[in-house]
Amino acid sequence: MAYPGQGFPGAGQPPPVGPYPGAPYGGGPPPGPYGQPPPGGPYGGPTPPPPPASPPAGNAPPGVDPEAFSWFQTVDTDHSGFISVKELKQALVNNNWSSFNDETCLLMINMFDKTRTGRIDVYGFSALLRFIQQWRSLFQQYDRDQSGSISFSELQQAFSQMGYNLSPQFSQLLLARYAQRSPNPSIQLDRFIHICMQLQSLTDAFREKDTALVGNIRLSYEDFLAMVVTRML
Ligand code: CA
Repeated sequence: MAYPGQGFPGAGQPPPVGPYPGAPYGGGPPPGPYGQPPPGGPYGGPTPPPPPASPPAGNAPPGVDPEAFSWFQTVDTDHSGFISVKELKQALVNNNWSSFNDETCLLMINMFDKTRTGRIDVYGFSALLRFIQQWRSLFQQYDRDQSGSISFSELQQAFSQMGYNLSPQFSQLLLARYAQRSPNPSIQLDRFIHICMQLQSLTDAFREKDTALVGNIRLSYEDFLAMVVTRML
């Protein structure tokens, strides 16, 4: 019961640190890749040239970082010019060398797949790389003992720094559901990204209904279902 007093996470005051994912709750638009188009990219730029299907090696398309382009070519194992969920999964690892789980890969592909084809082009991929990099550095920041994963107390601190006002019981619930068991329950990067994005999405949905910011809403059964269906990532 830590919620109502403070209103919404970050409603009263901006989160103390929360450089990236926390920021949207407190104030200001997220500085992340949402809405920040890669220069010259297809996300709102004037009229970018379509990326060639098989670009010559070493030549990054305009607006794409050469390093991201080189990564793209490596990850695009079937050389289709697009990255699928499967290819992405093969390319991303957590700190314990486990590969990213399917849900998080799918979630991220959908986020940067502007064409709704279930895969991303080089522009989407380079935005995705920046997105992951930002999460990775945030994750490192919250992983205070540098163990490579987020423990219960680290998760609590992370939420609080992001501006959330959540009880230890809630963190415990998340850990019970998403943590790897050994040696101590802790959360890997992929799950951490997934949890934070889910939390953001559902909090936004709740906040829309809770216009007085009291931390309580009255919902009909179907409104509840609709909220979950449209906001679960
Ligand atoms: Ca840790």
